[in-house]
Amino acid sequence: MVAAGHASGKLSLQWRKGLADTVHSGSPRVAIVGGGIIGCLTAWRLRLLGARPVVLERGQLGDESSWAGAGILSPIHPWLYPDAFSAMVNASLALYPGTMQELEQAAGIPVEWRRNGLMIPMFADDRIDHAPQASDWSARFGWPMEQLSAEEARDREPALSPAVQGALLWPEVGQVRNPRMLQAAYLAMRATGVELRQHVEVTGLMERGGAVAGVRLADGEEVPADAVLLAAGSWSGGLSEAMGFSLPVRPVKGQIVLLHCDPGVVRHIVKHDEAYFVPRLDGRVLVGASLEVMDRDARKMRGARPFLFANLKAGKGVAEIAHFIAEAGGVDVLIHRPGNGP
Ligand SMILES: Cc1cc2nc3c(=O)[nH]c(=O)nc-3n(C[C@H](O)[C@H](O)[C@H](O)COP(=O)(O)OP(=O)(O)OC[C@H]3O[C@@H](n4cnc5c(N)ncnc54)[C@H](O)[C@@H]3O)c2cc1C
Repeated sequence: MVAAGHASGKLSLQWRKGLADTVHSGSPRVAIVGGGIIGCLTAWRLRLLGARPVVLERGQLGDESSWAGAGILSPIHPWLYPDAFSAMVNASLALYPGTMQELEQAAGIPVEWRRNGLMIPMFADDRIDHAPQASDWSARFGWPMEQLSAEEARDREPALSPAVQGALLWPEVGQVRNPRMLQAAYLAMRATGVELRQHVEVTGLMERGGAVAGVRLADGEEVPADAVLLAAGSWSGGLSEAMGFSLPVRPVKGQIVLLHCDPGVVRHIVKHDEAYFVPRLDGRVLVGASLEVMDRDARKMRGARPFLFANLKAGKGVAEIAHFIAEAGGVDVLIHRPGNGP
């Protein structure tokens, strides 16, 4: 998920041409594996181009990382990634203004796409001085960057600690309220007549005459299709192997907490070390921390731990989460055990 207004129109046209090529033969049926933001937005666009997409989702639409993400529309430290990644990000961001406008019109709800800037404050005990690499990267990839003194940093972001020594600011970095974008994608898909199937698990490809002919579901049902889009998020790696090829996709785990604050308490997306703060328009501040690359399957690696976000969203599982924390020894104060005292 990336956004904003960069890169050349040429890339944007190539992307559109790619979609158009997919639907060259009349009204092809496209099986989309996974109902996250990638699957849902692509289904909507394909439908607009005249294809007949069917979204096949193992659980509920938009319940996995597309919902749990922070919606920051830029990699946090892009200079640490290969240049090809930055080029892809810029190409993706170039599509956002138009696509989000169309999406909001189609769905009739705002997705809260806006550029409120990304700030990286600097402190005396920072482990890494990002300024030299950040400055070089920003110049090469066309992102305006400001280097702020301590006073300027606190002026722009009053919630910063008085210990701040300065900050790097990218005023054009944006965010989207990803749960709203998912809701908008759902409404847009419904409005255009995309076929949606939830609680169906794709297990492999169907082939006919050496060509892809659709997908196979866990209960043995075959879903014929002229083309298949693998959009299964962090499960795409494992699924690709079941489909006979290999994609190097790995799950990344992070923790996020949503705070209820007054609007304006935090103004920019603020990132320091492993923590980041993303202020929403209504004052809520999403606080994220710790990114861990996991080995293979997000569900397996999650193990017995509850999926906090999905359960809280559905209003379910709070008791299980409290039980898990108590079992892990985290909250003695909440649990009265004999001998613990009051
Ligand atoms: C805590 C956290 C914070 C993040 N913050 C950001 C951020 O600030 N900015 C950013 O750009 N990105 C962020 N991300 C990453 C971003 O959320 C993901 O890259 C993006 O949502 C992936 O979308 P997707 O549609 O590919 O995958 P998903 O949303 O995971 O959707 C894949 C879907 O496929 C379904 N599926 C899987 N296997 C099968 C199967 N066999 N059959 C049928 N369906 C299947 C799943 O159930 C799921 O619904 C964050 C991620 C996390 C976890």
